[in-house]
Amino acid sequence: MQTNPFRAAHYLLNAHRLDQLPADAGAEIAFAGRSNAGKSSALNTICDQQGLARTSKTPGRTQQIVVFPLDDTHRLIDLPGYGYAKVPEKLRAHWREVLDKYLRTRESLRGIVLVMDARHPLREFDRMMLEFSAATGRRALCLLTKSDKLSRGEAARTLLAVKKELATNAPEASAQLFSSLQKSGVDAARSTLAGWLFAD
Ligand code: GDP
Repeated sequence: MQTNPFRAAHYLLNAHRLDQLPADAGAEIAFAGRSNAGKSSALNTICDQQGLARTSKTPGRTQQIVVFPLDDTHRLIDLPGYGYAKVPEKLRAHWREVLDKYLRTRESLRGIVLVMDARHPLREFDRMMLEFSAATGRRALCLLTKSDKLSRGEAARTLLAVKKELATNAPEASAQLFSSLQKSGVDAARSTLAGWLFAD
């Protein structure tokens, strides 16, 4: 059995501004998603550590960029969940600006994992992220998580529909089914992400 490089992920810091992030060197992958999509669970599942990313729904805790290094040069970045109803407009505007700048300028960013609830894929925020990835040539992996909530047929149809839309609108993006509950799609996700992080 291959070892899981993501098992080494550990908490380093919370950032409210970009200048609080580690130096822009090495390689990192950012996880984005609407709040409650299942992003924290996906991070925990990929890293095989249940307590790594907080699955708490408290906005104050999740409205931060959280940095999880694997080693000195490779990192996972947990971006703030999008769409918390309780986040004040001022903080919302702050994050719009910070995320926009991060995604446009971060040189060590190798790709984006866009976590979507398989029952409600490609909502407004998701489309915005995909437009961005297409515009900047960044790679993106759409994780259609909570796939255990769909029948096999529904899951297959959803995946096909998402792939079809990506082929037209975001050619650098790929999609796969995922379930943190059933631990399905985990090897495929790890393999894609390890390819991005450790390619060079
Ligand atoms: P986040 O806000 O995107 O970080 O979402 P969380 O990871 O905190 O998950 C939101 C809710 O969805 C929690 O109640 C999780 O237990 C649940 N959840 C997350 N992933 C899955 C999954 O793969 N299957 C099912 N059935 N529930 C999930």
